[in-house]
Amino acid sequence: MGPEVHELEQELAQFTGASEVVTCSSGTDALLLVLMAWGVGRGDVVILPSFTFAATAETVAVLGATPFFVDVDARSYNIAPEAAIDAISVVRAAKLEPKAVIAVDLYGRPADYASLQASCRNEGVRLLADAAQSFGATYRGAKVGTLGDATATSFFPAKPLGCYGDGGAVFTDDEETARVVRSLRIHGQGPDKYTNERIGLNARLDTLQAAILLQKLKIFPEELDARERIASRYTDALPPEVTCPQIPRDLSSAWAQYTIRVAQRDLIAKELRSAGIPTAIYYPTPLHRLPAYRHASGERALPNSERASREVLSLPMHPYLDNQDQDRIVQVLTEAVATT
Ligand SMILES: *Cc1c(COP(=O)(O)O)cnc(C)c1O
Repeated sequence: MGPEVHELEQELAQFTGASEVVTCSSGTDALLLVLMAWGVGRGDVVILPSFTFAATAETVAVLGATPFFVDVDARSYNIAPEAAIDAISVVRAAKLEPKAVIAVDLYGRPADYASLQASCRNEGVRLLADAAQSFGATYRGAKVGTLGDATATSFFPAKPLGCYGDGGAVFTDDEETARVVRSLRIHGQGPDKYTNERIGLNARLDTLQAAILLQKLKIFPEELDARERIASRYTDALPPEVTCPQIPRDLSSAWAQYTIRVAQRDLIAKELRSAGIPTAIYYPTPLHRLPAYRHASGERALPNSERASREVLSLPMHPYLDNQDQDRIVQVLTEAVATT
């Protein structure tokens, strides 16, 4: 908790426009701290998309609450707002308490916050934004960090704003949430260190990582521009057999990933690999089909999540990918698509 930690929190508040920022040890802990601050526990249900990284559901399950998986929109890969609303009714009909909805901004593209925010307010359910992949993105002029009742992000090196190890942050305009998250971050501390008011965690961000993030934040806007430029180059150059991400005009993505969807995905990935081009699959199995979470899903089919997990492929994407390398990726991919 050195001076750089506090300085970083101020800079992040300025960057996003969120009134409260609490840095912490990881994106997973950021999610966990918010759910703890909101009192999520045994008997509660939290609604979230199935097509996401396991950490989103893990934080719910580790608190003894039940993750309720819903399907994603086929094009944005983000939680389908209608599915989230239906889930709230289903959970209430089962006489359980839907404590929160978690929206995930997959690949860096913000979820449909206008619909989600309106519905959640209507239903009296809190909205947590899992912005681990979307820090730096915008939604209708507002920055990620201001879009849910609270937002959790990650500074893991593979995320758009990465440090040199683990790190994360919570953003909110709600003073009470921020106050409790600050306490939970350091063992539930009260006015002084040894007056523990609640059961918390050791979830501090290292001062060293804060110092690195302060420097990286200075060049972050240029890095976001570079990612945007590289994404458009992919979209312009890729052949029609490949479904490219389409970001509506009133949003911007942080382009954590440039993820295409393509038939014969595994064969194409193999072709690219043999040409020395790495790709990745985020994620090969939707959470409701994973051994750790299957029991919570009641074996419901979530067709968009299942289909996406079979067809998505993330291409190399980072702010320093040069045109020559990118052109080669496009060329090899185009040939692979034509021959498979
Ligand atoms: C990376 C990630 C997390 C977890 O962040 P960590 O900093 O690795 O703990 C949570 N949710 C999503 C969607 C992620 O991509």
